[in-house]
Amino acid sequence: YEAKSSGTHWHFYAKEMGEKVETRLKIEQALNYAVERNEFHLNFQPKLSSQNGQLVGCEALIRWNNNPEPISVEGFIKIAEESGSIIAIGDWVLETACRQIKSWEPEYGGIPIAVNVSARQLQEETYVDRVLSIIKKYDVNPKLLELEITETVLMKEFDESFFALKQLRKHGITVSIDDFGTGYCSLSYLSRLPVDTLKIDRSFISGDQPSIAVLEMIVAMAKALGLKTVAEGVETQEQKDWLIREGCDFLQGYLISKPITSEELESRFLYEFKK
Ligand code: C2E
Ligand code: MG
Ligand code: MG
Ligand code: MG
Repeated sequence: YEAKSSGTHWHFYAKEMGEKVETRLKIEQALNYAVERNEFHLNFQPKLSSQNGQLVGCEALIRWNNNPEPISVEGFIKIAEESGSIIAIGDWVLETACRQIKSWEPEYGGIPIAVNVSARQLQEETYVDRVLSIIKKYDVNPKLLELEITETVLMKEFDESFFALKQLRKHGITVSIDDFGTGYCSLSYLSRLPVDTLKIDRSFISGDQPSIAVLEMIVAMAKALGLKTVAEGVETQEQKDWLIREGCDFLQGYLISKPITSEELESRFLYEFKK
């Protein structure tokens, strides 16, 4: 009886595992064709100056319109990274962002766009050349393009990333460390990293007392190193008020706006810039 029972358990377990593998495979395969099938679009989340509340740019966040299974953005990005399709997807994101910068220009002037970059992309030997050639193709002012790279990526591949980022910045592109504070960037690395901005992770903004101490430290450190700071995930007026008090340079979060379509960004935020 016991053997049979555990046998049934094993069978049930294996079936569940099998379903998981199948789902993953389905997603992995769908991602291989998603770019050519035009299944992605970008949403944009505004970033405001904490000094005067003016829009200083926006972050492009990918959305998958036709995913075969319900999955989060983080979830499918991770699968794309593991399977390699992130390279094509990353190029698509960069091209689409550059086209958007260009198409806003005549009506609203230069609106900077920040793009998220995966480890796998940065590790490609041709990455820097590809970024530069896309910029050239769309005739985009490099000052309007910002690349966001997470801290863990930078630490894992310090030397390679260091070289790539240095070149990108030499060409006028802005580089930010995303989700700052969640990794283990040492102070000596941080002072050597060729970056412009620290995006302070949402976990320090939404927390309470202890996070305020950490936030104060990050802002002070950024100031000492000549880096700008962005607070991610600002959700309440209270958080906004103390971030302004603490001297954080830029604010991003649901309090200001969720990521929205380009049309919505135009009507809600860019109209002020209309020429
Ligand atoms: P991220 O770059 O740190 O982006 C911030 C995430 O937090 C976004 O989630 C955004 O919608 C969400 N968020 C913004 N403000 C708030 C807030 O006030 N409260 C809360 N609870 N959440 C907020 P999203 O769009 O689901 O993206 C998740 C992650 O997926 C991104 O984190 C980024 O790491 C990755 N990702 C998104 N688009 C791309 C892309 O085009 N390429 C790559 N490589 N990764 C991307
Ligand atoms: Mg980001
Ligand atoms: Mg982030
Ligand atoms: Mg994140």
